[in-house]
Amino acid sequence: MITVKSRAELDKMAKASEVVVAALKAAHDILEPGVTTAALNREVRKTVESRGCRPAFLGYRGFPAATCVSVNEEVVHGIPSERRSLAEGDIVGIDVGVEYNGYFGDAAFTMPVGDAEPETDALLKRGKFCLDEAIKKALEGNRLGDISNTIQTGAESAGYNVVRDFVGHGIGSNLHEEPQIPNFGPAGKGPRLKAGMTLALEPMLMTGDWRVTVLGDNWTVVTRDGAPAVHFEHTVVVGKNEPEVLTIGWEEFMALYFEQTVGAPYTVEAV
Ligand code: MG
Repeated sequence: MITVKSRAELDKMAKASEVVVAALKAAHDILEPGVTTAALNREVRKTVESRGCRPAFLGYRGFPAATCVSVNEEVVHGIPSERRSLAEGDIVGIDVGVEYNGYFGDAAFTMPVGDAEPETDALLKRGKFCLDEAIKKALEGNRLGDISNTIQTGAESAGYNVVRDFVGHGIGSNLHEEPQIPNFGPAGKGPRLKAGMTLALEPMLMTGDWRVTVLGDNWTVVTRDGAPAVHFEHTVVVGKNEPEVLTIGWEEFMALYFEQTVGAPYTVEAV
């Protein structure tokens, strides 16, 4: 069942989401050549815990870190490591989930370390475009397949592929709830969306083949052909007239890179 959240529940999710964005900013702010992925993870964990929240990925099915950091051909679920230093031209995906008072927020972006190659730059911008377009479909009366199809069409029309094996998801009092949200599929199919449903939309695009492999660490998902991949995610509330983006704000500190997402900013009540 896909649950519809009350205003009180949305407020808690908005607070969790605000901390997600703060943690993403903390990681973004130290991102430069030479930094380790473990250092990014430390910044995320510190930021989340200092705000009285819990990093939702830490310990999730045994995941050993507060954040997933996925570099270049790593699509999602990369494990931060002291041995992995970032280099100029790498692209790094940072994914953060936060629990606040039993409610969750989840968001991710991918960005270059220093300057990206033009082809990588185009892939990054297309990934963000697909997320923005998908968010516009989070309206009451639409079908879930309208979101999936928008992502697939946005990617494939530019010559990219979408991941088949991993999906977006409902979110709320669980990190992962119904429904599963594939990044592909026909429009006009699937459950009808209702205002107050909360969805983590997360396009994953690659320049090459869509097939992926999970590494021996049982987490890191890589493209099978080694081509680079990107991942963007927002936690979104389905709206009657317009969607609300709960994790809004990470575009602001990457203003040179990505423009503000569609969707009115959600106002967090004092908690
Ligand atoms: Mg997610």
